Amino acid sequence: MKYKRILLKLSGEALMGEQQYGIDDARLNEYAQEIKAVVDEGCEVAIVIGGGNIFRGLAAAARGMDRVQGDYMGMLATVINSMALQGALEDLGVKTRLQSAIEMDKVAEPFIKRRAVRHLEKGRVVIFGAGTGNPYFTTDTAATLRAIEIGADVILKGTRVDGIYDSDPEKNASAIRYQLLKFSEVFEKNLKVMDMTAFTLSHENNLPIIVFDMNKKGNLLRVVQGEDVGTLVNG
Ligand code: UDP
Repeated sequence: MKYKRILLKLSGEALMGEQQYGIDDARLNEYAQEIKAVVDEGCEVAIVIGGGNIFRGLAAAARGMDRVQGDYMGMLATVINSMALQGALEDLGVKTRLQSAIEMDKVAEPFIKRRAVRHLEKGRVVIFGAGTGNPYFTTDTAATLRAIEIGADVILKGTRVDGIYDSDPEKNASAIRYQLLKFSEVFEKNLKVMDMTAFTLSHENNLPIIVFDMNKKGNLLRVVQGEDVGTLVNG
């Protein structure tokens, strides 16, 4: 295995499957199976899930809601998704722990870095809920922050496209996928990988990012084994 400890970032929207809102059980189960496959190979897995399938603070603010209020609602939405994934993983016999950035002692442990690392060492999947715990941030930033804190080898951004392209592959059939990019190239070419706060944090801390298609069966395992899947941003 190329990567021993990973931080997997999933967007909330990915959990919707074909639905317009909420969580698609079939999709949830597929993701749980993909994650189990890498855990079974001995990879240490931490996960951050977004909340965009339920609530986004920025969208609510555009409709007139107080931004901070909306952001806390968005963070709570990530806890709902985290609990759903936790349940699906446990149904497959995978041991998990949920740690929340907003204290919620009936459903999650508080985020404690040393404890998270201990869980990983024992082979438990650790899901980090409630983002960074702060408004005005995103779950991409939370994922990057947690990845650095726990010493992950790489952040794996699971999306519905198989990497970073020179133009939008859903709009332009001749778009070309990059296999490897330097952080500086992403800035120069103004490519969308993660939001700027998250991306800068990754860059400053030399945390490689791989963007890959999470909806293709077996892809997560391929990435962890070092196959040429998606786009690697590094160096
Ligand atoms: N959020 C926040 N602080 C964080 C992480 C998330 O305020 O550290 C809020 C924010 O309102 C965001 C929502 O939670 O819109 C859901 O997260 P995100 O949009 O990152 O989810 P995704 O796009 O990955 O589904």
